[in-house]
Amino acid sequence: MTAFDKAHILHPYASSVPSADMHLVKSAKGVYLELEDGSMLIDGMSSWWSVIHGYNVLELNKAAMEQVSKMSHVMFGGLTHEPAIKLAETLLEITHANLEHIFFSDSGSVSVEVALKMAYQYHSSQGNKQKSKILAFKKGYHGDTFGAMSVCDPITGMHTAFEEVLHKNIFAEEPMCMFEDVWDEGYIEDFKNTLEKNHTQIAAVILEPIVQGAGGMRIYSPMFLKRVRELTDAFDVLLILDEIATGFGRTGKLFAYEHAGVCPDILCIGKALTGGYMSLAATLASKKVMQGIETDGNILMHGPTFMANPLACAVANASLNLLLASPWKENIQKIELQLNKELKVCEKLAIVKEVRVLGAIGVVELHKDIDLLFMTPEFVQRGVWVRPFLNLVYIMPPYIISPKELKQLTTTIYEVIAAYEISL
Ligand SMILES: *Cc1c(COP(=O)(O)O)cnc(C)c1O
Repeated sequence: MTAFDKAHILHPYASSVPSADMHLVKSAKGVYLELEDGSMLIDGMSSWWSVIHGYNVLELNKAAMEQVSKMSHVMFGGLTHEPAIKLAETLLEITHANLEHIFFSDSGSVSVEVALKMAYQYHSSQGNKQKSKILAFKKGYHGDTFGAMSVCDPITGMHTAFEEVLHKNIFAEEPMCMFEDVWDEGYIEDFKNTLEKNHTQIAAVILEPIVQGAGGMRIYSPMFLKRVRELTDAFDVLLILDEIATGFGRTGKLFAYEHAGVCPDILCIGKALTGGYMSLAATLASKKVMQGIETDGNILMHGPTFMANPLACAVANASLNLLLASPWKENIQKIELQLNKELKVCEKLAIVKEVRVLGAIGVVELHKDIDLLFMTPEFVQRGVWVRPFLNLVYIMPPYIISPKELKQLTTTIYEVIAAYEISL
């Protein structure tokens, strides 16, 4: 089977002639992935931030099966259904009170496309068609579709491959003030100058709150976000916050923007929304944004086939019930304490540049880029699944991970980085 995969099936950011072997996952339960040969791996990645309750969760299985027996899907044009209404109620309840409208879509990238359309349409409906650019940040990541790519980091993002066809946006320097650093206005200088100089052409600023994820796993000061909000308000520019990775407790708050006490005009969520069961995302917007778009009878121009898929919404409802009924805050605090204690020892290794922890996110940054061909087998042999990128070994385990399982993850990370250092 894996031979067929290798010959024909494309994987994320990978060659059609792959050099590494694929691991076939047979089933998964709790924090464990079971491979073809029966070996068990602790999943340190939560399948890219999404599987917050672990795999094969009774309550989520039940919700999916009950919904399948009613209807798996129905179009959302002219029709509606209970799973979507319930989910919208909960999401509008747990996010900032200013967010009053919600648009469901099928993936994080699409929710970003919708957010960008909202921002453009908001200003063009006011007769400000020249506000056609987005101010984004270096080291940012917002997805793989064309609009989303156009606001990703211009170097580590995919701009070089698509330079000629991407919408030309404007970029500010990434936040350099790390989470605990003492605030200095100098940190916001570049953003402020860029905004001041270009605001007449800027529809919105887009930013991942507190943690820049796939662009470098950088954890920055809440004051930075607070100042971004104040400045966007001052210049009549909308603020889009991309919580696709950070939402639903990952950083220790239900949403990372809460660290800064701000409210976005537009909010993107996805990844953990269904507990990692299926693809679902949403774009939330304030009344001001929707009323602005609809000036002169305009409407938001988007409508995916699988919009608000009932099966995905039903599982999302079950996942949110499970999360909100659990002591998620305490669980994440415990994970944070343990990550801080156990990952910091990596800083003793010469190859390690820095260890960073926030909530249930642990990052070990190396001085050198990682060789996956070396590291992946080392991790798998030791019974864990960790997938580093660039010079970053990072984990964001399911919230249900036990202290013993987490200890195995952190110990293994130390061992594998130490082995990598020796191999060089
Ligand atoms: C993963 C991610 C996206 C894209 O979501 P997809 O579901 O992969 O399309 C966008 N923004 C951020 C911050 C993400 O982490």
